[in-house]
Amino acid sequence: MALAERVNKIKESPTLAVTAKAKAMRAQGIDVIGFGAGEPDFDTPDNIKQAAELAIKNGFTKYTPVGGIDQLKDAIIDRIKGDSGVSFERPEVMVSCGAKHALYNISQALFQEGDKVIIPAPCWVTYPDQVELSGSETVVISTTEETDFKPTAAQWKEAMASGAKAVILNSPCNPTGSVFTREELKELADLAVEHDVYIISDEIYGKIIYDDAEHVSVASFGEEAKKRTFLVDGVSKSYSMTGWRIGYVAGPQEVISAMNKLQSQSTSNPTSIAQMASIEALTGPQDSVKDMVSHFKERRDFMCERLNAMPGISCLKPRGAFYTFPNVSGLFGKSWDRWSINSSGDFSAFLLEHARVAVVAGDAFLAEGYVRLSYATSMENIRKGLDRLEEAVSKLS
Ligand code: PMP
Ligand code: GLU
Repeated sequence: MALAERVNKIKESPTLAVTAKAKAMRAQGIDVIGFGAGEPDFDTPDNIKQAAELAIKNGFTKYTPVGGIDQLKDAIIDRIKGDSGVSFERPEVMVSCGAKHALYNISQALFQEGDKVIIPAPCWVTYPDQVELSGSETVVISTTEETDFKPTAAQWKEAMASGAKAVILNSPCNPTGSVFTREELKELADLAVEHDVYIISDEIYGKIIYDDAEHVSVASFGEEAKKRTFLVDGVSKSYSMTGWRIGYVAGPQEVISAMNKLQSQSTSNPTSIAQMASIEALTGPQDSVKDMVSHFKERRDFMCERLNAMPGISCLKPRGAFYTFPNVSGLFGKSWDRWSINSSGDFSAFLLEHARVAVVAGDAFLAEGYVRLSYATSMENIRKGLDRLEEAVSKLS
């Protein structure tokens, strides 16, 4: 069958694919430890589930306004105001079926052939493909561990000067866990204003930060910065609500209106029940978030220490999100049995097939030489998975 060309330009989400593969292996009775999934292992808090049950009981089960109900928009507006001090009005806010969908709507409403979009790499797997789907071109800024995977001022300047329309920023970052400082963000916001470039600021891990890291929104650097920022967030990560599919964006009203039009002709509103649950998530007790973050922190510390003790592997300590992103290039050129390790893809295949540990190869994030391990899984799994990984690595020579 002749498929539309646009589908051939993209790949299936590699993070979802690894997760599905590990699940399928488990269903066959193979004991796989999954470090692939980017989803919290905790249950959705009870107060949130109860809000959904109440919505069903009350018959709140019909179409809602396309871009979300006012009560949820108000909860989002209050949340952003409280966290970042930035004020938005209802017409500047839109709710979609997950942050991924919000990002998709932005790219479809804003980008077309001839446009350039800056993406610092390592980056989340979905950004380049969404840009590709819009017909526009990616301008990738490659970063290294030396700068904590953040572009230097010179790199930002050069990319902005290329005539780009937008930059996609992700702080805290998936996969590196890097968090941009207030100063770095101010510098970026100033450049964006100077070059008249939009900032798509994916802040979905904003609540998952450690140590003395501070989450700052680029939208907070004055009216000119706000005018050019799309603040994207959602409930998936902070409230362990990945399956509920609620994400949102606050940004320039004209583009938000265009996105509403697109959504009205694609998905219509996000699920009514999940919207009610999200109001409770955003406005109800927040202790579950704190609790989750303290578990993540303990796991991060443990995982980093273990990984750094393995020969050929080195790992920066992430300051946010729930991933480690170790450099495994020290293992390249080594082999064992039928496995030769010459890329992060080879290494992740070796780990899955031989050690029964699922990780995501760095090339999926435009960063060859690395693999991503999610620590959104129990300490017991982390211990077991790292024991297996260590044993597998010790065989390579
Ligand atoms: N942005 C980043 C950086 C992510 O890791 C994810 C995880 N899926 C998303 C956006 C989308 O999340 P969701 O669609 O579940 O809201
Ligand atoms: N964002 C998560 C991850 O990076 C979920 C998978 C996805 O949406 O691609 O693993």
